[in-house]
Amino acid sequence: MTGQFHYEKDSDNIVTVTMDMSGPVNAMNDEYIELMSATVERLEKERDDIAGVVLTSAKKTFFAGGDIKNMLKAEPGKDEEGLFLMCEEIKGMLAKLEKLGKPVVAAINGAALGGGYEICLACHHRVALNSSAVQLGLPEVSLGLLPGGGGIVRLVSKLGVEKAIMPLLEGTRFNVAKAQAAGLIEEVADTPEEMMAKAKAWIKANPEANNPWNEKGFKIPGGDMRNPNVAQMVQGAIPMLLQKTRGLVPAPARILDVIANTLRVDFDTAMRIESRGLAALVTTPQAKNLMNFFMQMNQVNGGGSRPKGIDKTAVKKVGVLGAGMMGQGIAYVSAKAGIEVMLKDISQEAADKGKAYSEKLLEKAVAKGRMSEEKKAGILGLIKATASAEDLQGCDLIIEAVFENVDLKHKITKELEPMLADNGVWGSNTSTLPITLLAEPSQKPENFIGIHFFSPVDKMPLVEIIVGEKTSDETLARAFDYAQQIRKTPIVVNDSRGFFTSRVFGTYIDEGALLIEEGLSPALIENLGKAIGMPVGPLAVQDEVSQQLTIKVNETNRDLDERAGQEPAPETAAYRLARRMIDNGRGGRAHGGGYYDYPEGGEKELWPELENWFYNKGVSLPQQDIKDRLLFRQIVESLRCFEEGVMNNVPDSNIGSIMGIGFPPHTGGVFQFINTYGLQAFVDRCNELSEKYGERFTPPQLLLDKAKNKENFA
Ligand code: NAD
Repeated sequence: MTGQFHYEKDSDNIVTVTMDMSGPVNAMNDEYIELMSATVERLEKERDDIAGVVLTSAKKTFFAGGDIKNMLKAEPGKDEEGLFLMCEEIKGMLAKLEKLGKPVVAAINGAALGGGYEICLACHHRVALNSSAVQLGLPEVSLGLLPGGGGIVRLVSKLGVEKAIMPLLEGTRFNVAKAQAAGLIEEVADTPEEMMAKAKAWIKANPEANNPWNEKGFKIPGGDMRNPNVAQMVQGAIPMLLQKTRGLVPAPARILDVIANTLRVDFDTAMRIESRGLAALVTTPQAKNLMNFFMQMNQVNGGGSRPKGIDKTAVKKVGVLGAGMMGQGIAYVSAKAGIEVMLKDISQEAADKGKAYSEKLLEKAVAKGRMSEEKKAGILGLIKATASAEDLQGCDLIIEAVFENVDLKHKITKELEPMLADNGVWGSNTSTLPITLLAEPSQKPENFIGIHFFSPVDKMPLVEIIVGEKTSDETLARAFDYAQQIRKTPIVVNDSRGFFTSRVFGTYIDEGALLIEEGLSPALIENLGKAIGMPVGPLAVQDEVSQQLTIKVNETNRDLDERAGQEPAPETAAYRLARRMIDNGRGGRAHGGGYYDYPEGGEKELWPELENWFYNKGVSLPQQDIKDRLLFRQIVESLRCFEEGVMNNVPDSNIGSIMGIGFPPHTGGVFQFINTYGLQAFVDRCNELSEKYGERFTPPQLLLDKAKNKENFA
């Protein structure tokens, strides 16, 4: 099918241009350039016979933005000039459209993000359809890019720096109401017909429309760089940016640079600086990694790991066993997705407490104006807090989130599995216990699966689905569908201790503990953890998950070794330190303090006593070694997971590492990091670290093979 920009003139001489490109969405690529330039040419030619133009889309989205697949192909040192010229060409057409001399209105019937919203900005007026599918904004920064179709220069010129700076630096995606409040659009319509009517009415009322920046004597609202308040705002953004990016991603600084230039030079020059900025960013490794992340995220959410040929299912009634920290969160996200929930604990009181958690979260949403009382009542009404097994009758899914104890989990499986509806699925939210072991007492082990949530459940976007030895494809598909039903991203892993995320995450904590034992300064370790882009240092992480958990995981592993008749694995540094910390009453954040003190109302501070235990001024390591130890340890462990078949594919691993562990997004995830570093270079560095610091860095065979064959992780 060839794409088209349909061109229709009505009896009032208003032309409606409906973008209908050949792909599933309208996107900024060669076809767009061809169609848009032909359209603009025709409009210019017929200018005297038309009253105005409405630009809209035949697709569900208005316009999707840049073509990521194409941008990923761009090579550094080679393609920048071509990218610059392409930006200029795209801008040239939009400039012609806005200078047509006739009013041009964007009728925004679907999402207009990035390039889509840049087209809207070049129009003279914007009417959006009031629908949850319509999102607006310039989120390029999240891909390591900047809006290069005039988005920065026009938004700053339209709104002034004060209102434009955060949406540009943070890449905010606005819904219709928020977009209108922020000044991104001017009008809202409830139906497509009303949208078109409003667009045409505006054209009739504004026959001479022009954008203010094309008028003589134009001044940016709020002033330009000569205004001290404006200059201060731009300067103030620099430290804020650095604190956020830690200097690891170039896009935000480049966006700020274009903003500053928009406030300093004339419109056309600023436009060229913007094009150069995008051309320079596209080929940076950070942009490539973030774009790769975006593509792999689509693969994962598109069902890349869901077994093929099985019909999609939806859960109607879910039983959640254990109304503790995890169970209450699982109940909340399930009810929010419209699923009936039976939240069961050992007493009515404990179950009620679990339900109260949902009430608290919903109340907050109502107080913030994000939810109506009616909606809140509806969601709460779906959760039944109970101590009675009877209520579980007919659940199509039961998820257990009771204490992490094999015998207890076996007991409740035996007791409560018969309550499931025919062919119902039993999910365990264990964080460490093998699913195959937990499934032993099950009457239907093919319907038994791991559904591992992250804490806090309502905020963490990932679910790790664990396939036991006997789990069927159908059960996997149903767990996958449930995860998507509650709007989480599911990755699929095979059964092993710690599965993928906990296992890799544990190595970050353990490497931090090893560095402490070696005598390095706790503050240095924490700072370097953040400097590599992890959300917090390894000691802060340990405090969050609690020292008890580390002890528990170690004890569980020893117990499992014993059950399997194996020699117990050697003690880890994290375990040794956790024991000593607990002996000193330092169980972690939830226990009143751990590696850190948590003063009421103040910032956390490292516990001073920790330095007295191991810190040795005489010990010093190259900072790069410390940084690499904290990163490479996680990556080598991920490679082992891949080699052992715990992980099935690269996208799940990359996405899981970023969304479940907090691995730095600009690396694109654990395996994309290796691609960017270069496989052989990564092998060499692993060997160096292994020689200096121990075998835990020895490159696994799978990596050696890939490096030898010059294959990337794809
Ligand atoms: P928790 O101690 O907060 O809650 C456990 C709840 O289970 C308690 O309310 C307890 O009364 C209830 N319970 C015990 N026996 C029961 C029974 N027979 N029937 C019904 N309820 C019973 O624990 P948690 O942190 O919510 O962890 C629960 C599970 O989730 C564990 O397997 C844990 O490993 C796993 N998990 C925890 C985290 C985390 O960050 N805390 C993350 C992922 C997975």
